Amino acid sequence: MERLKGKVALISGGARGQGAAEARLFASEGAKVVVGDVLDAACKQTADEINAKAGTKAAVALHLDVTRANDWRAAVAASEREFGGLDILVNNAGIYRTGGIEDTNEEDWDAVVNINQKGVWLGMKAAVPAMRRRGGGSIINISSIYGLIGSPGSAAYHGTKGAVRLLTKAAAVQYAPDRIRVNSVHPGVILTPMIDIVPREQLQSLMELAPMKRGAQPEEVGWCVVFLASDEASFVTGAELVVDGGYTAV
Ligand code: NAD
Repeated sequence: MERLKGKVALISGGARGQGAAEARLFASEGAKVVVGDVLDAACKQTADEINAKAGTKAAVALHLDVTRANDWRAAVAASEREFGGLDILVNNAGIYRTGGIEDTNEEDWDAVVNINQKGVWLGMKAAVPAMRRRGGGSIINISSIYGLIGSPGSAAYHGTKGAVRLLTKAAAVQYAPDRIRVNSVHPGVILTPMIDIVPREQLQSLMELAPMKRGAQPEEVGWCVVFLASDEASFVTGAELVVDGGYTAV
């Protein structure tokens, strides 16, 4: 119940889906949580629900567009002002666009790269100085199984999620002397609003490809993120945690 007691976490994309699940699990394990998203009303709702359950101020919501360095600076400042520091960053915000190499337009390419890839870099850049002030920290970057393997119809998404995988390892190497651990998480099919754009039959056949033959609830990724955020993972850095029901094991 207290695996994250005394820790302060900043979670991007916390309005819904996996980010909201992580915020709820983090708070249930004793963390204080700052949730940021571009969906302001839903983000506030996530924080309100956490606070109502905790009976105290355990969460704060703020507007965070991960493509904006100023928003990141404000989010890190809010973590320090509201809760006294920053120990954990979950770079969770992301978007998905379909399209192969030739049928991806530049607008979609730039949007996916800016949010999924540049956003992760900006988040780490803003959070590291605050973590140094705490004497260490844990950064969890949410990639995807599409950052490990290819498929025909999501070129921009694959490119960015693959980049997150190696950006994570570069940061893990750079910040080990600062006692900041950096790991990536690679979810398979997770039942969140992100996959609403995938036609039902296509989704079913995707799930059938995994030996467990189902999609996961967002909490099933969330608990893995809790582990990486906690001191239980004290010797884990630069690692890839695959959470895919065996999809990439086949
Ligand atoms: P989701 O669409 O439910 O949640 C994504 C959140 O990110 C939303 O709240 C959205 O508003 C937010 N967001 C989008 N652009 C943003 C921006 N510029 N700044 C701040 N927030 C922004 O999807 P999810 O499944 O919860 O996705 C969470 C992460 O997991 C993403 O990085 C996604 O790529 C990854 N992922 C999802 C799946 C899946 O099957 N759902 C699989 C593998 C990886």
